[in-house]
Amino acid sequence: MRYFLALSSRELPLETRASPTPGEIALIAIAVVVLAVMGIVFAVAARRRRLVRESSLALLHLADLNSAFAASVGRYPVIRKSFSVRMNTKTKYDKFDLGNFLRYSVLESESWFEHEISVRLTALGYFEDYHNRFEQLSRQMLGATADPRMAPQRYAAIEAKLFHRAKLPHPDALADITATVRYTSPKGQNSYVRHATWDFHQLRLGLQTAQAARARQSTVQASRQRERQLLTPQMRVDVLRRDRYSCRMCGARAEDGIALEIDHITPISWDGLTRPENLQTLCHDCNRGKGARFRG
Ligand SMILES: [Zn+2]
Repeated sequence: MRYFLALSSRELPLETRASPTPGEIALIAIAVVVLAVMGIVFAVAARRRRLVRESSLALLHLADLNSAFAASVGRYPVIRKSFSVRMNTKTKYDKFDLGNFLRYSVLESESWFEHEISVRLTALGYFEDYHNRFEQLSRQMLGATADPRMAPQRYAAIEAKLFHRAKLPHPDALADITATVRYTSPKGQNSYVRHATWDFHQLRLGLQTAQAARARQSTVQASRQRERQLLTPQMRVDVLRRDRYSCRMCGARAEDGIALEIDHITPISWDGLTRPENLQTLCHDCNRGKGARFRG
């Protein structure tokens, strides 16, 4: 017991430390004062912001506006997609049209791209509406309220700052669509690569262009189909009679047992029309022999 007391009462060794110099004391005092002043400044500023937040009608209305629009002006990620293709000759690589490839590739996933574009455009449309209301609110409500505990100018400045800081961010519509074409020479000595990139605006335009081209294509096909249907049995008979039932190329005649056909002189695929002046009688052999160039 005595031993234990002796141990616990033994003085612990104190750290030996030089006492601070007057210069150090002054520095510490300045630091303490600076921190205290900063603390007061922050506290005062925080209190002013709180007073403005609690009383400002502009901020109150903006909070309502923001919650009404928050979901519809949401931000969307960048539309990213990359397409690549490999050519088997240098000539094909050189001639390869990356813009066309992009239009074709985008058209392949048309509905996906349309959806991605449309949600972003919708958000932009809502944001325009939001922005207009924000501006209107700013004109009508900013400065409409005050607090007797604050100078009106100071109140207005803080209110305007908080008001603009609370504005919802602009929903950027961004895209990064890349097409790549490659060619590697047979022994792998030379490698070539080219890229083309579309941003959001180019993506919209490119998809529209591709859709318009497709619509034109189908219009052309439909009008060619109509031209083919215009060749009625009566018109066949009229042309045969006009050509005296003989092939206009070799003169073979129906009465010799030759099958005669009606041919478009300028083919329908070259926008030839189904009119007597563009029709002629040919025998089967002559019609086939001419190949694609004149086939009706
Ligand atoms: Zn013939």
